[in-house]
Formats: sequence, C-alpha cells, structure tokens
Amino acid sequence: MFHLWLNIPVLDIPKTMRAVVYRGVNDLRLETVPVPRIGPGELLVKVAVCGVCPTDIKKIQHGTVPPPRIFGHETAGTIVKISSLVTRHSSLRLGDRVALHHHVPCLKCHFCRHASFAQCETYKRTGITAGFEPAGGGYAEFVRVMPFVLPGVVKIPVRNSFEEGAMLEPVNTILKAVKRLNPLPGDAVLVAGQGPIGLMFTKILQLRGVRVLATDLLESRLKLARKFGARRTCLASELSSLITHHSSLDSAIIAVPSDEAVLQALRLVRGGGQVLLFAHTKRAKSKVQSLKSKVQNPSPFSLQPSAFSLDLASICLDEKDLIGSYSSDFTLQAEVARLVFSRRLDVRPLISHHFPLEETAAAIALAAKPTPGSLKIVVEP
Ligand SMILES: [Zn+2]
Ligand SMILES: [Zn+2]
Repeated sequence: MFHLWLNIPVLDIPKTMRAVVYRGVNDLRLETVPVPRIGPGELLVKVAVCGVCPTDIKKIQHGTVPPPRIFGHETAGTIVKISSLVTRHSSLRLGDRVALHHHVPCLKCHFCRHASFAQCETYKRTGITAGFEPAGGGYAEFVRVMPFVLPGVVKIPVRNSFEEGAMLEPVNTILKAVKRLNPLPGDAVLVAGQGPIGLMFTKILQLRGVRVLATDLLESRLKLARKFGARRTCLASELSSLITHHSSLDSAIIAVPSDEAVLQALRLVRGGGQVLLFAHTKRAKSKVQSLKSKVQNPSPFSLQPSAFSLDLASICLDEKDLIGSYSSDFTLQAEVARLVFSRRLDVRPLISHHFPLEETAAAIALAAKPTPGSLKIVVEP
C-alpha cells in the first residue's frame, strides 16, 4: 500500500512480532509476541533502531525490576498506525520517521515547577511498550506509544538517520547535566570517562567555550576525546600529577561509576567548584533491604560498608558543590534536536556496533563490558 501524496510505503501490520523478553536476571529470550494494539490518541511505531543504554543493562544484570518486560528506550522508527485523534491534534502523520521519548513530565507538579522532572510521578510512568509492563519496548519490532508521551515525539529530518534520532534521549540527559553544572566560557572542566557519554559531554562543553580536560583508562579513547574537542587529555592514573595549584579545575563531571574519581575530583576542583555525578545510578543497599535479608545477614543495622568518606568542610568551607543529574529534561527537547540534527554534535562517529534483534543479548553484553573499539551500541529490529 502506498500513500500517493507522500509516496511512503506503509507496511501491512502483522499480528505477531519478534521481541527480546527479559525473563529474569541475565535472561533475555527472543520470543514471538502479539503486535501491540493501539487505542485512541496512540501511535504504533515500527522500530528501526534502539540504543543500548547502561540503565537497561543495570536492570537486566541486577534484576532491579520484576520480569517479564521488553526493554529498550532509545528508540527511533516509522509511524505505521496512527489514531485519528492524533492527526487531528498534532502534525504527526502516518509514515513519519520519528524519535521517541518514553518519559514525559506533567510540567505542573511541585517537582516540575522546580525543574526536577525525574522526580515527577507522571514522568516516572513509562509511556512506550511492546507488551507486558511498559519498559520502553525498543527491543521489539513494533512499539505502542501512549498519549501522555506524545509531546516527546520528534520528527527526524530527511537528511538525518534513525541512529541520529535514537541518540536524542541520551543527548538530552547530557545537555540537562551540563545546564545543571552551568560552566562559564573559559572554565577548565574535567570530564572523567570518555565512553560515548563522556565524549558527548566533551563536545557539548567545547561548543560552550569550555576548556575540557578529558581522562580515561584507555589511550584510544583519549585520542577520540581530542577529536571531540578536549583541550587536554591524560590517563586517569596521571590526573593528580597534572593538576597543581597552578593549573586548577573549575569543575568536574564524573561519567564513570567510580567513587575514587569523585573523591579525587572533589580534592582537585578549586574553591567554589562543582562536581557533578552522572554515572552513580546504582543504589547502595538500604537499611530496609538489609532488614529483609536478616536471615543471611544476622546484624540488621550493619549497612554496606562504604569506602566513601567525604570531608564535609570541603563543601562548607571551600564552598564546593556536589551535584547529581539523572535522566532527561523534556523542556530541552527542541534544543537537543537542533544540536543533533544540525550535526554540531555529530553523533554518527559514536555508533560503533549494530546488532540484529536476535543478538540483543550479545549487544548488551558488549555494552556492559566495553572493548577499546566499542562505543555506542545499537540494536536494529
Ligand atoms: Zn538511556
Ligand atoms: Zn510533574
């Protein structure tokens, strides 16, 4: 079937599809499931690309949410079915190539008024599913997009690829963090970790006139960091010797889940400086969880020992700020789309591996244990 006025081929939608279903810790299975039905105000999107994200890896490897679920939330694809309610109230049309956003805040509650969108109850609901408890659904052939996340759907310009569309979500989380840090042009900012996330931080900071000092454990990534605009680079082990009181840091972004990197950055930034945590997304066991596991752990009040000991005077006396940033800021979506689609932030060199849907488990394994040659990994259903 063709839409003559647009000449866009629209698929006959099958009844069933292939999907990678999370069935338990480290248990992903390729299954045949029903293609989701859409209701009033909804879209059905044929998935072209879905990025593999560290937050999904964490859920799969640590079982932090109950199965079954279909993960994958950095999704781009084509609208193959659209409710007439949507066409009446938006510019979205059948055949549009779109990037999806699985979380959209209400913009009205206490948290939204304070720009803490990730804490908003509406935001916490996942509005995209390929079946089961909504969890993104990008590791499947089709996804259903619910009404409350429609404001997050962005059309992909003709010259841009689905891969670029799928990168809007991670880029949004980075731009949000940069705005929380709010460095001034000329500031010296450390970006610890030069994986795909760190490299995008480096580029966005460079575009704002910031002098980036990039560190990583791998020499090959430092070379990439220079291509992405880092002024200086060094191996993480050499950082302390590089920073003296003659060349101080104004702030730091920690894009690796290393407590030691945080402590080191807090020591190295100068008074009034900021350290932003971006990769510390795994919670330490709480007292309640310890109580639950009382049988295995006879001392209910012994919390997990933390290697983290913070000199609070560095916060009070030296006025250093320790800040965090998690997830995306919906209000930045238009700016993110301009940044990526104009290729001022060219995300194409960041995508190192494409996996077919059947090999999603291998894609996730590689993303969890990156190699010198691996950066952003995507699945193409
Ligand atoms: Zn993500
Ligand atoms: Zn809200």
